[in-house]
Amino acid sequence: MINKNLENYLDINSISFKKDVSLSKISYFKTGGVVKLVVYPDSINSLKDIVNFARANNIKFEIFGKTTNCLFLDSFVANLFIFTKHINNIMIEDEKYLIAECGAYLPTVAKTVSMSGYTGFEGLVGIPGSIGASVLMNAGSYGNEVFDNLISVDILDNYGNIKTVYKKDIDFSFRNTQFKIDSSIVLSTKFSLVKGNLSSIKNKIKNVSVNRRDTQEHVLPNLGSLFATRDIYSDIAQVNVIYKVILYLIRKTYRFKKEINNKFLNKLTCKFFDIDFESQPFSDKTMNCIVNRGKGCEEVYKYILDLKSINPEMKLENEIIGILNAD
Ligand SMILES: Cc1cc2nc3c(=O)[nH]c(=O)nc-3n(C[C@H](O)[C@H](O)[C@H](O)COP(=O)(O)OP(=O)(O)OC[C@H]3O[C@@H](n4cnc5c(N)ncnc54)[C@H](O)[C@@H]3O)c2cc1C
Repeated sequence: MINKNLENYLDINSISFKKDVSLSKISYFKTGGVVKLVVYPDSINSLKDIVNFARANNIKFEIFGKTTNCLFLDSFVANLFIFTKHINNIMIEDEKYLIAECGAYLPTVAKTVSMSGYTGFEGLVGIPGSIGASVLMNAGSYGNEVFDNLISVDILDNYGNIKTVYKKDIDFSFRNTQFKIDSSIVLSTKFSLVKGNLSSIKNKIKNVSVNRRDTQEHVLPNLGSLFATRDIYSDIAQVNVIYKVILYLIRKTYRFKKEINNKFLNKLTCKFFDIDFESQPFSDKTMNCIVNRGKGCEEVYKYILDLKSINPEMKLENEIIGILNAD
């Protein structure tokens, strides 16, 4: 009945939606159960209206951009998902500011401003998410973070009001912001633009792309970094002196060998910490990247728990959807 009302509301307001959608088809990692209703608003106002309608009618919902940070467990089913991908306008104002709506694709945003000769976004070109989620978690790479040039964010607060929040008033840190806990919905963002040297900008983008290709998984479905860390092996080494020595020796030996993966180190780490599996749930490139080899989520989830138990201080960056208190 509740969904019928919602469907009527969506029909009347010409907002597109799909019914009984399989997450294993639409999620980036290609796992998960069925969502009864998936909605694609195409403007900030319709996003606001749907959220307020759902809240007023006690309909549980979740917002997503590209799902590039979310592991949906196979058992997970949901009632209502709202996707922001059609709310994606990007605008350069007065050659000084960039305005990007929540569903804008970060690589498109980063390339657009970079190719217009503005610096500070080059490192972000390879992060395959939406601007909204990237602000939520202060996404970043290769020396650039989304918050570097951020001026303000328009959010939809828990009371259904749109508010502009300035960077100085936002609590943020490495891959984290207050928005993750206060349930604000990011609607639109404003950044300052700084002119740079176009050929240096292009060079940096080229280097970032080459480096990503060499060091990160790009064949199997994956979600980037599993834990919020620059070096998972060092984090593991913090809790075990013998492993620390082994890691030091391996890295010293391999420094001059240009390896394109960490196969040997991964094998050794798994043996050392007794991590077993039938189908390797992580990338050859790094243990800090889960991959989908088409065998379901169970082994992937067990692997995450195994790693976390080695050093409980490590913070999960990927979100596990379908269980309580994953971190
Ligand atoms: C190959 C690969 C490489 C990656 N490399 C990097 C990297 O270098 N650096 C990095 O930081 N990340 C990286 N990531 C992770 C991911 O791309 C980023 O976290 C990205 O910001 C997630 O965007 P998304 O739209 O896919 O978010 P989603 O996965 O759709 O959502 C993530 C979270 O944000 C919430 N959310 C989504 N939209 C909104 C909104 N508008 N308002 C409020 N909450 C919202 C969701 O509810 C969810 O909790 C990588 C991922 C992949 C697959």
